[in-house]
Amino acid sequence: MDENTLIEKIISEVDKLFPRKCSCCGKEFKSFAEFLELTTILQHAASDNFIILNRNNFFDILALRNCECQSTIAIPCAVNDEFKKELVTLITEEAKRLNSTPKKIAGILRDKIVQRVLHPKE
Ligand SMILES: [Zn+2]
Repeated sequence: MDENTLIEKIISEVDKLFPRKCSCCGKEFKSFAEFLELTTILQHAASDNFIILNRNNFFDILALRNCECQSTIAIPCAVNDEFKKELVTLITEEAKRLNSTPKKIAGILRDKIVQRVLHPKE
């Protein structure tokens, strides 16, 4: 799977998670794009804003963003378990290949996804 295909697939998976509400203030995010517009990441720790799960045959990547009420919202990378496994494996292997960390690789991917969702025509 090339990178563009991968990014498109992640976006279509994450889209299925919306609409979604902040469990703290109840704010509703109607779409992935609206969620990205209305939430922020903690820039000083950009690559730490992930939880990468890879244990007991359970795979997921949770991207953490802050609601305007300051509570943290965790968004899974996909709804499909097979795709989650594929993605975690791919990111882990890419990190090894580049002598980097899975969180850094996930951060690069996240930035590309955000760019694609917020500026689809660029
Ligand atoms: Zn909130």
